[in-house]
Amino acid sequence: MCAVERWVFVRVLVVEDDASLGQVVQRGLAEAGHSVDLERTLAGARRAVAIGTYHVVVLDLGLPDGDGLALCRELQTAAVRPRVLILTARDATGDKVLGLDAGADDYLTKPFDFAELAARVRALLRRPEHARSPQLRVADIELDPAAHTVRRGGVLVPLTAREFSLLHYLMDRAGEVVTRTDLLDAVWDTNYDGLSNTVDVHVANVRRKLDLPGRPAPIETVRGVGYRIGPEVPT
Ligand code: CA
Repeated sequence: MCAVERWVFVRVLVVEDDASLGQVVQRGLAEAGHSVDLERTLAGARRAVAIGTYHVVVLDLGLPDGDGLALCRELQTAAVRPRVLILTARDATGDKVLGLDAGADDYLTKPFDFAELAARVRALLRRPEHARSPQLRVADIELDPAAHTVRRGGVLVPLTAREFSLLHYLMDRAGEVVTRTDLLDAVWDTNYDGLSNTVDVHVANVRRKLDLPGRPAPIETVRGVGYRIGPEVPT
């Protein structure tokens, strides 16, 4: 034993509507030394993550009041993003792809062996804070694709998943004019037939969130064509 040993509690949220399975997972992870909360609904899980800071969320997808994937996506823009391990009966490749693309760090299908779940939670906790992929930077705006975060002047800017994708696309092409059609194809699906001003509305929202007093977001409207993000603040 070290002379000075600090216990760092790992906080885990288990979201599982099957009461007995939830209790088994909760008890097992608690025996592994983690501090574990259990929620049985999407609404309960949302409340829990709003008030608590979790290192890992073990997330069932089929919940009585909605799809766990929604929470998975929401967590991507959280200020402190927990690692998400999806634990579900949905075992099709397409479902796994959906889950991982929604930001999950791992995906385990039911039925499962508890020893494997515990090992996967340990593996998540060993991971470096974020597997680094290149950060994008335009002026004082930084976008981190791995962490799914946007900062302006170092301050976190909360964006919805759609707004994040939109800004990501613009920043990837900084200095270029991006048309509304490009954005619709890239950020919405190609057969999206919503209102024609959808792109403008979302760009306006991104701008509003990025604007600082005296420093508007450097997103320029190219009249009749689209948008361009660049290092110079438009006047
Ligand atoms: Ca379920």
